[in-house]
Amino acid sequence: MGAAIKVSGVSKLYESGVKAINKISFNIKKGEVVSILGESGSGKSTLLRLLAGLEDAEEGTILIGGQQITGPSDNLVPGYDFITLVFQDFKLQRFKTTAESIASEIYFLPLEERNQRVGELLDLCRLGDKADSYPHELSGGQQQRLAIAIALAGEPEVVLMDEPFSNLDFRLKEIIRQEVVDILRKAGVTVVMVSHDHTDALSVADRVMVVRSGQKIQMATPEHLYHHPKNEYAANFLGPINYIKLNGTSSETGVRPEQIILNGAGAYSGVVIRNVFQGMFYHVYIHSDMAEKDVLIYSKERMEEGTKVGFEFLGYPTK
Ligand code: ADP
Ligand code: MG
Repeated sequence: MGAAIKVSGVSKLYESGVKAINKISFNIKKGEVVSILGESGSGKSTLLRLLAGLEDAEEGTILIGGQQITGPSDNLVPGYDFITLVFQDFKLQRFKTTAESIASEIYFLPLEERNQRVGELLDLCRLGDKADSYPHELSGGQQQRLAIAIALAGEPEVVLMDEPFSNLDFRLKEIIRQEVVDILRKAGVTVVMVSHDHTDALSVADRVMVVRSGQKIQMATPEHLYHHPKNEYAANFLGPINYIKLNGTSSETGVRPEQIILNGAGAYSGVVIRNVFQGMFYHVYIHSDMAEKDVLIYSKERMEEGTKVGFEFLGYPTK
């Protein structure tokens, strides 16, 4: 199971004149989990719909599992059986039980085979004891797992998810998204997941593609992207970053807050401007000649505003 995706020079121009996708090219390996990150309006949903065969591309080609994907103008019934698109609101059916919802996706299978498949999916998604429950009787995490069971029922090779975790309470989110991706990995499908939240991308994806104005900015592992972002847009998208003029240079270098340590004898100095309590630590902003914007660091303790501090960098600054 799982299919490789090969996108070459694809563009999408809406009739309104908006170029939502602009000559994008990328490859995704069979069974890989890839996250697409980008600000609102950057073309993420359009890209997923193109991959699903629900939009016509103006130019370029999309190959999934070696098959060319085409849009509605070439298909009377758009879409492909081996590709499932999961939406953020899941569209669970209120009057169907968990087992019925899964079974209705594979109504065409003989009864015995269908029941067996439903049983397997209930096990995979840890819903064995919820077979006869209705959606309102399920917790948020169970509803999310049911949505995944439904998506996997027809044995797709590719699962596309559009902002799947954005409606979740942040306390549940971390565990639920981990569970969902574990299930998808076990199923062996190729996953393309869209998000505007970098923690989704960093925590579960094998690789992340940052998009902006319908173009690919960078595609790399979460670690590489975090430590070696290609430009300021990608850098800011993955978490806070400071731009600092290192000693003797006029150009700015990106330095993550956690790479900065306070040290009276450090090579750099500044004055504490502001403390923002974050629970686990304070965000402390330091005004320094080394940077145009106040430098953000993390501190366990509140730091007196107006205090002069020295700081230095831990490891090599991020380029
Ligand atoms: P994202 O999912 O990243 O927020 P979208 O793919 O939804 O971005 O939208 C990309 C751009 O295309 C936006 O400028 C949006 O307004 C435009 N757009 C999206 N869908 C349509 C449509 N059906 N018709 C015209 N323009 C659209
Ligand atoms: Mg969208």
